[in-house]
Amino acid sequence: MSPQNSLYRRAYRLLNKTTPLPIDCGSLCGRRCCHGDASKGMWLLPGEEEYLRSIGAGEQFAFLAGEGNQGCSTLVCNGHCSRSLRPFACRIFPLFPMVTTQPGRPLRLTLQYDPRSLAVCPIAAKGLGVTVSFRQHLRQATRLLLQDPEITAYLLQTTTFLEEINQLSALLLR
Ligand code: SF4
Ligand code: SF4
Repeated sequence: MSPQNSLYRRAYRLLNKTTPLPIDCGSLCGRRCCHGDASKGMWLLPGEEEYLRSIGAGEQFAFLAGEGNQGCSTLVCNGHCSRSLRPFACRIFPLFPMVTTQPGRPLRLTLQYDPRSLAVCPIAAKGLGVTVSFRQHLRQATRLLLQDPEITAYLLQTTTFLEEINQLSALLLR
């Protein structure tokens, strides 16, 4: 198993059972985050498509070549999936692990609502808050993935992109 595959296996396992709320949050909203279309896929991390294919997800999902996702693939589903095969993006929604650098200091990891979730997810839109356990598992899973330099570079770039969306939204709301 490649080093990235091993990290994904461990990160997925950490996020297998943890959920944003103590109840099934899909019952609040009719699973809105699963109602995308073929043009709106879930962003995959570097090497994640290969990992998903290695665990048999290639038959369940379509993968679009990297455009608009820092060169990484996007996963498209039909709105239903085996929970054990969900990609990282679905396991962590509506949060995103924002990773930033500080001169002479370790990488800084903060968990924030993904700005793309605000229009979709009632947890984010109403600021309901997520469970401590969800945050802890997401933090642990991200720390694992940050052992890989390619994934680290991706998270740094994506954090910059999402911060730009936040800044633009704040400007528009002024
Ligand atoms: S949109 Fe939010 S509340 Fe609804 S299922 Fe997805 S994560 Fe849960
Ligand atoms: S892969 Fe599964 S969890 Fe993710 S959006 Fe599709 S149906 Fe929902």
